[in-house]
Amino acid sequence: MEKKQFKSESKRLMDLMVNSIYTNKEIFLRELISNASDAIDKLYYKTLTDKDRSFDKDDYYIRILPNKDNRTLVIEDTGIGMTALELEENLGTIAKSGSSDFKSEQEMEEDFDIIGQFGVGFYSAFMVADKVEVETKSVDEDKAHLWVSEGTDGYEIGSSDRKSHGLKITLHIKENTEDNHFDEYLEPHKIQQLVEHYSNYISYPIKMVVEKSRIKEATKDSEKPETETYLEDTILNSMVPIWRKNKNELTDEDYQNFYHDKRYGYEEPLAYIHLNIEGAMSYKAILFIPGQPSFDYYTRDYEKGLELYANGVLIMDKCGELLPDYFSFVKGVVDSEDLSLNISREMLQQDRQLRLISRKIDSRISAELKNMLENDREKYEKFFLAFGNQLKVGTYDNYGQNKEKLQDFMLFHSSKEGKLTTLKEYLDRMPEEQKYIYYASGSTIEAIEKLPQVSIVKKKDFEILYLTEQIDEFVTRTLGAYGEKEFRSVSSDQLGLEEPKENETEESKETAAADEKLLSKMKELIGDDVVKVKTTSHLTEDVVYLSTEGDLSIEMEKTLNTMPQ
Ligand code: ADP
Ligand code: MG
Repeated sequence: MEKKQFKSESKRLMDLMVNSIYTNKEIFLRELISNASDAIDKLYYKTLTDKDRSFDKDDYYIRILPNKDNRTLVIEDTGIGMTALELEENLGTIAKSGSSDFKSEQEMEEDFDIIGQFGVGFYSAFMVADKVEVETKSVDEDKAHLWVSEGTDGYEIGSSDRKSHGLKITLHIKENTEDNHFDEYLEPHKIQQLVEHYSNYISYPIKMVVEKSRIKEATKDSEKPETETYLEDTILNSMVPIWRKNKNELTDEDYQNFYHDKRYGYEEPLAYIHLNIEGAMSYKAILFIPGQPSFDYYTRDYEKGLELYANGVLIMDKCGELLPDYFSFVKGVVDSEDLSLNISREMLQQDRQLRLISRKIDSRISAELKNMLENDREKYEKFFLAFGNQLKVGTYDNYGQNKEKLQDFMLFHSSKEGKLTTLKEYLDRMPEEQKYIYYASGSTIEAIEKLPQVSIVKKKDFEILYLTEQIDEFVTRTLGAYGEKEFRSVSSDQLGLEEPKENETEESKETAAADEKLLSKMKELIGDDVVKVKTTSHLTEDVVYLSTEGDLSIEMEKTLNTMPQ
């Protein structure tokens, strides 16, 4: 065998793997399985373009073989395999553009958690193994080869007597340490669990011999039936995910089952969206609008995000980049063939791709909600009750950047019709002479309706939005106006209502003078709690009301006063 050194970038990556600063070591299995799947894909495409080859589905699979006695874990595939030259090129170096981006080890360590979510490729084997053997035979070559490495000090290449095409990788699993229980990678049930978690939707069967138990035939009819264990070759992955199926093959129930299987929520989802996008960036996605917020939704602990798959391989449980904050309640999966798993591909490229997907997702959720608002008001109100507050917060996130987009999703209680209204509906009902969109704040509708200021506006037959949650007034303030009509609190001293004309008679002048005296006396008595005491001709039943100068409502002033300055 011939001893060789790794190229420098590979050596560095290898160092990191061996010393393994990355805690999520179990992803090595996902990496090796995805390589095996890629290799079968390559062979599959070759058979499509080569008349002399045929593709029999049964010939293509991935097999896993843990062996506790030898402390080895074998992963074998029936893919395209590698020639001697390819072995050298692919496993001796990271021949990918991204590798030169790793300017320093320190920088890399800092980035490692993000990168680690994507993938570290073949070398991840060294996170769990102190020795790795690869036996492979290419479909294009008669000879088979062996590649062996014990880590950073290089690798050896020799020959192998492997007869069939494909690749077999043998991991010599490390001994347990205090922090790491490497033994578990030799346990079939652990392997099974990892495959189901990360590689469930790999499109080729992943097989393993699994121990199962059954009732002993001879004891079946007896009082105390005995069980026996037996071995069975089992396919660990479910292969075809629902999102790869055709929409018209699927029923509502299929989507609901998926929703429950994934534990997105206990109740039924309000809506789902199934996307199948082809283009510069191809991907499939299933998105759900849940029926209720999860118990932690309005807490700091809640983490938004969608499951992200790269061609059936799970990369992230919660990819936050895929959802804007105002839609953080959305659940679902995205699977793209165009995303790469590997560390060595440009991260920037990935960012751009994720942005592309997230923009589409944003617009599809918006369209779905708009549709619900227009065509199924009852359902929309249920939605708004559950997640409306998140949309409200969204209006003033990012300096109100999203307010235009979100304003039409808002619902408010109103003095008219006794039901929730959108701003557009309010505007459509508004008489021509009305200058502002009026609102009144209070903790309940009943409390608001008792406000003297409310009856002033109501007397004019103008509609008032009843803001019962503190956040509502933040929304009206962030929006400022809707359809060029400004929001105006009913407790403002400038309501834009026409004052009834008073005749300038001697008598009225006299009362005015008397009023003036009385008012200044009142101001004197109340002191600094008020700025000014005025008369008004608006009141009907009440004798006095409090108003604010400018546009703040009293409720809002209270809120602002309790906030740290
Ligand atoms: P990536 O999969 O992103 O290309 P990896 O580090 O995982 O990067 O693998 C490096 C290369 O080694 C692959 O591109 C492929 O050419 C080769 N390779 C790895 N595993 C296999 C396999 N099971 N069969 C054939 N080739 C493989
Ligand atoms: Mg790979």
